[in-house]
Amino acid sequence: SDPQLRPERLPEDSDRALRPQALEEFVGQAEARANLRVFIESAKMRGEAMDHTLFHGPPGLGKTTLAQIMARELGVGFRMTSGPVLARPGDLAAILTNLEPRDVLFIDEIHRLSPVVEEVLYPAMEDFALDLVIGEGPAARTVRIDLQPFTLVGATTRLGLLTTPLRDRFGIPTRLQFYTEDELFSIVARGARLLGVEADEAGCREIARRARGTPRIAGRLLRRVVDFALVEAGGKISRALADRALTRLGVDGIGLDGADRRYLSLVAENYGGGPVGVETIAAALSEPRDAIEEVIEPYLLQQGLLQRTPRGRMLAQKGWTHLGLAAPRPPGQ
Ligand code: ADP
Repeated sequence: SDPQLRPERLPEDSDRALRPQALEEFVGQAEARANLRVFIESAKMRGEAMDHTLFHGPPGLGKTTLAQIMARELGVGFRMTSGPVLARPGDLAAILTNLEPRDVLFIDEIHRLSPVVEEVLYPAMEDFALDLVIGEGPAARTVRIDLQPFTLVGATTRLGLLTTPLRDRFGIPTRLQFYTEDELFSIVARGARLLGVEADEAGCREIARRARGTPRIAGRLLRRVVDFALVEAGGKISRALADRALTRLGVDGIGLDGADRRYLSLVAENYGGGPVGVETIAAALSEPRDAIEEVIEPYLLQQGLLQRTPRGRMLAQKGWTHLGLAAPRPPGQ
């Protein structure tokens, strides 16, 4: 697989120019957007911090972008950190005590907070307070420090890994969905406009169709197609140019990349289409189980190429067809 096409955040992925700045500019997630608009307006009318919000869904769907937009629309500051970065309770306490009233604090990968750090969050979220332990042994006592009211925005690719007490403290849990081709078309067309490249409608649609339902991938593919367009097509993106460029990048007709196809082929060819356990698949592909469950499988499931059963993963009929293989007949037919 080409690592450039995977949706993890890379340093060179700073597509700030393409990031929507306002809820109005944010394409897709219609339901989440409509609800957020109400909660933002209501918080502004009450002059209070907006309720804590949890975004969950696969990487690259706009969780960070929405958190930034919330802060901007609320007219408050935005602070950002992530679960793995907050090693000690003091790291989080330092951030919390420096918040201005009603600020948005964004914690990415919140399922990766260590338990001791998570403990600090409970009173912070519930009572806007910090419980500090002073001294040691029998002389130790707890001192409560008041915090400014703030909005915690958590993001996770794995809702199932959140502890129940943490999950229960979010007033607004919001699931983000894969984007439709039409929504990705708008995102690609807008991106082309912002990058100042000439792209016809069919060219943008080709990129949208092969962006794996994910705006981050749409942005990345657009940039790579622009490279091919500049060098090989006088800077103009047509359907034929986009198709040629994406095929050379290893992105197939429905947007699957090398890692996706290796997954499907493995299940088809080595395990007769399954059922096969995710641990077995991870070992055979030499990929971490997390990456398989967070990045590869959600899209294959959403596309109906794969099924999850109690006994493991199974290739769906559409998966066999996509590989150009015939599904084995069930026994007795
Ligand atoms: P996540 O936090 O879910 O991994 P991000 O918010 O970082 O995803 O979004 C990834 C990239 O995709 C951003 O840089 C942004 O430019 C783009 N993006 C995300 N959602 C949208 C959207 N609805 N419209 C346009 N671009 C988007």
